[in-house]
Amino acid sequence: MFNNLTPPPPDAILKVMQQFRDDPRSDKVDLGVGVYRDATGVTPVMRAVKAAEAHLVATQDSKGYVAMAGDTAFHSAMAALVLGGVVGAERIAAAAATGGTGAVRQAMELIHTANPQARVWISQPTWPNHPALAEAAGLEWRPYRYYDAENGGIDRAGMMADLDGAREGDVILLHGCCHNPTGADFTESDWADIAAFLERRGLIPFVDIAYQGFGDGVDADAAGLRHLAARLPRLMIAGSAAKNFGLYRERAGIYMVVCPPAERDTTQAMMAWLNRSSTGFPPDHGARVVTTILNDPMMKDQWLQELAEMRARVNGLRAALATALRKETGSDRFGFLGAQKGMFSLLGGTDAQIARLREEFGLYLVGGGRMNIAGLKEDTVDRVAAGIARVLND
Ligand code: PMP
Repeated sequence: MFNNLTPPPPDAILKVMQQFRDDPRSDKVDLGVGVYRDATGVTPVMRAVKAAEAHLVATQDSKGYVAMAGDTAFHSAMAALVLGGVVGAERIAAAAATGGTGAVRQAMELIHTANPQARVWISQPTWPNHPALAEAAGLEWRPYRYYDAENGGIDRAGMMADLDGAREGDVILLHGCCHNPTGADFTESDWADIAAFLERRGLIPFVDIAYQGFGDGVDADAAGLRHLAARLPRLMIAGSAAKNFGLYRERAGIYMVVCPPAERDTTQAMMAWLNRSSTGFPPDHGARVVTTILNDPMMKDQWLQELAEMRARVNGLRAALATALRKETGSDRFGFLGAQKGMFSLLGGTDAQIARLREEFGLYLVGGGRMNIAGLKEDTVDRVAAGIARVLND
């Protein structure tokens, strides 16, 4: 049996992680994998998380199973965080999942169960797992143009021309904020245009929001998604607490469906069923930490403050890198870095240039030049800018 297996396609990000670990140079800089790092290079456990965990250790009296869709208190807390009260509970079905990845996967399964003919439209570029997760659920997917590398913004005309090919009932996957890998986000008026288009064409939005709070703030980052929820009859959401709660390895994720009340109960039952037939009961510890924080005013304040510190750090590093690159290149060629949002930006570059950055300068980026801004430190910004200017500024 196993001799029939052929090797799976290599994972570009894991490969960069391995190359970085194997590099003996002490001045190497990891700009690859998408985790937040503080000024000392550490991915910290947030203080609010420590407080919630201490509370759980003191008070939790059972590790018995919870429910196939996870804890309803987690659903309510996350629905409030993401949707901000713009739709009533009678329109929301929700289920905990194994991280944001599990949430996207389960949402794809739900699409396939409800309408196997639906095609999922995915931005180019995107988080590489999006197409893989659609395919794993047996769904056909189509790309739509998204990024305008010339100006570091969105290719609106290309995007709308491609989405014009969508059929009624198709699903349009959108990044809620901090687009991975480009950092180029929709404006308020883009969201309004998209909502009108989706409404006119009978298309269903699916918003993946994995970085809420890393762009402009918890509410500002969800404003586009909330606009869709308030205006359209149906919306799917995949959320993750990996980044904004620093709970990466705890795999705290959720998927939600906003729908007419008449569709809600069956959708909820099907989501529980889909959990049962894949992972069984979803992980609980990270979800419970999130719920504890969001339901305790002091812990929530602490968390919001820490999240604001992380956001300020990333935005500060963005601005510092943009300034250093302006100095190095004498141009505004990389000025888009300062305006983009979240942990990632796409610098471009051929495979040979990315290899040269790695070999000559010890700078580790993912193929296509995706850079994790949070991998910078105040004292590496100038060196990184110098390497980028030498190799990529053609
Ligand atoms: N969606 C996007 C766009 C992401 O970048 C990520 C993390 N890389 C996820 C979902 C999933 O994150 P996790 O499974 O770690 O919660």
